[in-house]
Amino acid sequence: MFYDYLKSQRQKLALLKDKIYRESDVRRALACERLDPHDLMALLSPSALPLLEEMAQKARQLTARNFGRTISLFAPLYLANYCANSCLYCSFNCRNSIDRRKLTLQEVELEGQAVADTGLGHLLLLTGESRQHSGPGYIQACVERLRPYFASLGIEVYPLAEEEYEHLYEGGVDSLTLFQETYDEKVYASVHPAGPKRDYRWRLDAPERACRAGIPGVNIGALLGLGEWREDAWATALHAQYLQKNYPDVEIALSVPRLRPHVGGFQPQASPVTDVALVQIILAYRLYLPRAGITLSTRESPHLRESLLPLGVTRMSAGSLTSVGGYASTAGSTQFEIADERSVPEIASMLSRSGYQPVYRDWINLKGIEGSVGR
Ligand code: SF4
Repeated sequence: MFYDYLKSQRQKLALLKDKIYRESDVRRALACERLDPHDLMALLSPSALPLLEEMAQKARQLTARNFGRTISLFAPLYLANYCANSCLYCSFNCRNSIDRRKLTLQEVELEGQAVADTGLGHLLLLTGESRQHSGPGYIQACVERLRPYFASLGIEVYPLAEEEYEHLYEGGVDSLTLFQETYDEKVYASVHPAGPKRDYRWRLDAPERACRAGIPGVNIGALLGLGEWREDAWATALHAQYLQKNYPDVEIALSVPRLRPHVGGFQPQASPVTDVALVQIILAYRLYLPRAGITLSTRESPHLRESLLPLGVTRMSAGSLTSVGGYASTAGSTQFEIADERSVPEIASMLSRSGYQPVYRDWINLKGIEGSVGR
């Protein structure tokens, strides 16, 4: 399992604890086709800062070779915001007094129709982490309602057992997004003071359970800014590589979410992730994992999203809401503030102006559909 692999890689790195990565280490990593975990650390080190432009050039080439000039678009749909956890950095924390809501199946369909009317074919379904309020049966029922409207449906929900992932896959779910939040076990314990999410290992192994269950796309990430970002980015890339190696049929992708303002005002101890740091992380991911998708959400500002486009990004959310409901009905409390509020057509025309093809759907998943493949 990845836990043991990460531990062994950390031990190897600890043997070089006092090693300072120099510019020559970064140059060597830039010259290699296949990078090892030390090369990755060099690319994430302060010594890489003067070489960001060279890293960007190579990242552009690798992205064009593996993905062309295309950006796949998707929208999130929050089904419920009940949560059994008390993550210090999230508005849906069960100790926060916010409006709690769960969409009925009819509301789910109306919200889905409103997103589908924008032309988007990829939808990501999210819930707070509450088995009691949004159990696997409810998620499955939502998937059934939405299958006719979308080419592809992903989920971002609490970690499930392998059989539960199998069941959802058979019902039409074709991708999983699950963030470890931080790979640092001590920080993980401190920012998750209560609730089932305290189980670090159960969460860490969930992407692998989804791969074993046959889900074709798995997207992982750390919430950058919770722990030391260099270490979290390093561990995330190792995790993605481990999954790619062991499950070659699964499309592995990474997200680069940064902490955003939310209810509660939690301030992490770790150093903040500046815009330059975010650029460095994306470049290091692209150089280390040339075939992995990289997702950039509306957490980032329009200007920054456009600047980051050529560096390796392959997937973007568009026209997003982080409230339960809101596409077709009144919006409830939001999980976090978004920074890019542009509509789907606005994002699409920005992409076209920048020389990229906005992709509304790049494949159709026929699982879970009876009779028609929808729109
Ligand atoms: S991050 Fe997820 S698990 Fe934590 S409080 Fe928010 S919704 Fe719940």
